[in-house]
Amino acid sequence: MPVGTLASVKGVSQDVLEELGVQILLANTYHLYLRPGVGTVRQMGGLHRFMAWDRAILTDSGGFQVFSLNDLRKVGEDGVTFRSHLDGSSHFLGPEKAMEVQIGLGADIVMAFDECTEYPADAARVRASMELTLRWAARCKNYFEEHKREVPWARAELAERRSSGRPRAAVPTLADQTQALFGIVQGGMDPELRRESAERTIDISFPGYAIGGLSVGEPRELTREIVESTLEHLPSNQPRYLMGVGTPEEIAQYAQLGVDMMDCVLPTRAARHGLLFTSEGKVSIKQVRYAQDESALDPACECRVCQRYSRAYLRHLYASNELLAQVLNTVHNLHYYLATMRTVRAWIRAGHAVAN
Ligand SMILES: [Zn+2]
Repeated sequence: MPVGTLASVKGVSQDVLEELGVQILLANTYHLYLRPGVGTVRQMGGLHRFMAWDRAILTDSGGFQVFSLNDLRKVGEDGVTFRSHLDGSSHFLGPEKAMEVQIGLGADIVMAFDECTEYPADAARVRASMELTLRWAARCKNYFEEHKREVPWARAELAERRSSGRPRAAVPTLADQTQALFGIVQGGMDPELRRESAERTIDISFPGYAIGGLSVGEPRELTREIVESTLEHLPSNQPRYLMGVGTPEEIAQYAQLGVDMMDCVLPTRAARHGLLFTSEGKVSIKQVRYAQDESALDPACECRVCQRYSRAYLRHLYASNELLAQVLNTVHNLHYYLATMRTVRAWIRAGHAVAN
C-alpha cells in the first residue's frame, strides 16, 4: 500500500496511481483529522469521493502518529490527549473517537486504536501496554458494531434513494456494506506476549489482523523473528497486515513468510530525496557520476520514467530542485515496489508454498 498521508500520494495524481496498478492506498487518520478535518471529508461523501479514488483505501487509527508526538501527548485509560503539530491546539484520540473519525473518513479498511509500544521497553511495560491495546481493541469493536452504518457513502446512497423514490435494490449496494475493522497485535519483542496478544485479539474477532509495534528501531533480524513467530498464531485464511515495512527485499521476504498486506513511506519518501530502488540496487540520483549518463534509470524497469528519461535528465531535475524530479522519482519507486509485489503474487500463484 503506497502511503497517501493527506489523501494524496505526494507528487502522483490518482490517474497515474491507477495506471501503476495501485489497488489500495493508506491514508493517515491523524493528519486528516487535523486537516481538512473529518467533518469536511464526511460532508464531501467520504475519502473516496473527496479524493476521486474508486479503489480501496485503508486508514490507520492515528495512534502511531499520536504516540510519536513524545513531548506533546498524555496517555490515559481512555486514550491520548495531544497537541496538534500544526498549531499546538489540544485534541483527544481514544478507541471510540478513533472509530468515529475513521467511520467519518469512510475508508474500506479501518484499524483499531492501539498503543505502539516503544523500543526498547522492559517486560512489565510491554505487558501493560499490550493489555491496554487489548482493552482498546474490545472498545473499538463495540463502538464500530454500533456505528458501522454511519459511513458517509452509505448515507449518500440512502439519501439519493430516498429522494429518487427508488425501492431498496434487489442486489446488495454500497448502503448495505460496511467497513472492515482490523485488530492489531502488540507485545513488543517477546514472542510469548505476541502469541498471547494474537490469541486474545482473535477472541475479540476481526476480519483481518495487523502486526504492529515493529520497525520501531529494533534490529532487522529481530523484526523478522517476531513477524515469523506472530504469523503462526494468526489465521492464514484472513488478511495479515504487517504495518510500516520495509525495503523491496524485506517486503518480498515478509510476503513469503505469509504477510498479505504492508504499507511503507519508503518508496515515496526516498524518491523525494533522490534515492531510487532498481534491479541493480539503490541509486542516489543526485550523484555527479550520473550527470552525463544516457542510460535508463533501471534498464529492467518497464515504468513510464525508465521508458522515457535518462539518468542524466533525472539527475539534472533533482540537482535543479525541479518539481518534476519528485514526481518522476516517486512514479519509478512506486512501480518498482508494485512490480516486486506482482512478482511475489506470481510466485505464489505458481504454487510455491508460503511459510505459514
Ligand atoms: Zn522505472
